[in-house]
Amino acid sequence: MLNVSHVTKKYGKVVACDDLSFTLEPGSVTVLLGPNGAGKSTIMKSVIGFLRYEGEITVGGCPNKTTDARRLLGYIPEMPSLYPNLTVSEHMEFIARAYKLSEYKERKEELFRRFELTDKQKKFGDELSKGMQQKLNICLGLLPEPRVLLLDEPMIGLDPHAIKELKLLLEEMRAQGRTMLVSTHIIDSVDMLWDRTIIMDHGSIRANVTRDELESAGKTLEQLFFEVTEGAGLPDGASGEGGAPREERAK
Ligand code: ADP
Repeated sequence: MLNVSHVTKKYGKVVACDDLSFTLEPGSVTVLLGPNGAGKSTIMKSVIGFLRYEGEITVGGCPNKTTDARRLLGYIPEMPSLYPNLTVSEHMEFIARAYKLSEYKERKEELFRRFELTDKQKKFGDELSKGMQQKLNICLGLLPEPRVLLLDEPMIGLDPHAIKELKLLLEEMRAQGRTMLVSTHIIDSVDMLWDRTIIMDHGSIRANVTRDELESAGKTLEQLFFEVTEGAGLPDGASGEGGAPREERAK
């Protein structure tokens, strides 16, 4: 559903993403895990079409910057960018118009109810607390029900109720055959959610494993994370990319 092939992104001399390749299947949640500065946001912004890069990205077989691909793609950015003079409700209307959604009112109400924004609908963007802004940011990304949804650090600033709802929504979307890529640097926040984990560090993919592969290798996600980001290499039985020990990678 989403294919990233040999993508390299440089900011001047900084190689933020170094020859990344991976494929995401329909009906799956993939977690993109990595320390700060690993390149997670950069690959997401490349997929969504915000950045220029070397390499190829396709969505549903179409190059990611084409109209057909854009119709399939959704993105929840790390930093909410709300309009100070639009109300919470008007933000949703704006997205509905941008995506030409006709039947969206029920979904809008459901999202507001689930993220406890129903009584905030008349508030303006700049009257919302940080957490409420993030909840609205998430509702805006979920409203169009994209086939492929990218979520950049979505749990940051959310209260436990909103985290629970977001996880439930991701599970529902997976059951509908949608594809989700969730970036985070907090391992605990994704615990039972994922089908595949891609671990990035210093712009490269250090591991790319399914839950079954990790379980067969007898490892926890946390163990794998520290093995591949702190130099011990990949565990036996888990597939990976660029998983050489740190000393090797530095050569
Ligand atoms: P992550 O999302 O994993 O924290 P990023 O993709 O934001 O990582 O950053 C990857 C690398 O690219 C870092 O070294 C970061 O400093 C650099 N970087 C990110 N955005 C820019 C930018 N706009 N200009 C220059 N360097 C950037």
